[in-house]
Amino acid sequence: MLATQDVYSPSPNDLLRERLIQRQRVIDLQQVAFARDAAEFAAGNAWDEDGSVSAIDWLRFNCHMNAGAAANAIAVGESLEQLPESHQAVVDGEIGFAHLAVMARTAEALDDRFDEKLLVEKAKENSPGKFFYICHHARHAADPKRYAAEQSEQVEQRRLKLSTWMDGSLLISGQLDPVGGAAVLTALEPLARKSGADDDRCLEQRNADALVELASGGGSQAQIQVTSSIETLLALAGSPAAEMEFSLPVSSKTIERLACDSSIARVLLNSESQVIDVGRSKRVVSEPGRRALAARDGHCRWTECDRPPSRSAAHHLVHWIHGGTSDLDNLILLCHRHHRMVHEGGWQIVRSDDGPIVTIPPTVTFGAPARGPD
Ligand SMILES: [Zn+2]
Ligand SMILES: [Zn+2]
Repeated sequence: MLATQDVYSPSPNDLLRERLIQRQRVIDLQQVAFARDAAEFAAGNAWDEDGSVSAIDWLRFNCHMNAGAAANAIAVGESLEQLPESHQAVVDGEIGFAHLAVMARTAEALDDRFDEKLLVEKAKENSPGKFFYICHHARHAADPKRYAAEQSEQVEQRRLKLSTWMDGSLLISGQLDPVGGAAVLTALEPLARKSGADDDRCLEQRNADALVELASGGGSQAQIQVTSSIETLLALAGSPAAEMEFSLPVSSKTIERLACDSSIARVLLNSESQVIDVGRSKRVVSEPGRRALAARDGHCRWTECDRPPSRSAAHHLVHWIHGGTSDLDNLILLCHRHHRMVHEGGWQIVRSDDGPIVTIPPTVTFGAPARGPD
């Protein structure tokens, strides 16, 4: 008799699973209610009365939250009325508050191009992390120029602080934009792997060793892995962002730059997502071509810039995607910063017949001011 009952009763693990799901659902609904109040609070003056700098600041101290969670709550509360289907999906337990936070940020970024019906289906099928990625692609597809402008703004936040302590140790802290960060991770990751079963260094120690090894010239020639469609490279409206190892989806302009010098292991997809061009191809500047370019230009060709060839890219004056060749007369050396100014910054380069180049600043800026903090 007991044995028969055992067969039909849920196991302790089944009960545990069910309990976790139900508890999180209660938390999600509470978070939605919290978000609604947080938005009302942010719109009022109660935080100001308390002498806080902002509503986010008040929430950080009084509700024991980090700034990101407080900003997400306010963003969700502010957009809840525009997200009826997403709200319902949380009530029904089909998506979580984490999805809703991504949805609110996407609605805010896309404005009248936001398609809730489409995205709520994606939210139901994917984890919040994967959904975050999908929404970045949707943002790129809706407005590639604005997406590129937002990534350029992230670059402006870059900083690296190096301070030497009394005992000579070097303290490093800072922030890199997603693409710059991905380049660093790509270079460090192979060097930071465990070197054998008896390697008992923790990850932070292996990262530190990898950085020193890289600085000492022992770095491997790791190539950044990128997946992009031709449409993305051409920045056509409706194209998804490119994908890059260790990074969030990347704008067309940045991929155009990376593909220009072929410093990436290139994977291009056609519209049916079939791989049409993998890895290095004839478009890559050959080693003799690179040496000839270094000999001719000597350093970055931007006015008054003297970064050496080893720190410069072979920029195609006419990009290969538009039919430019990798012959010497279509190439000039540009350092990392100036190469970025041409591709992402909208600067133009004109070369006169007798050699010197003329740089023309961008006349049009795209995108809206950043809203923060996230
Ligand atoms: Zn270039
Ligand atoms: Zn330069």
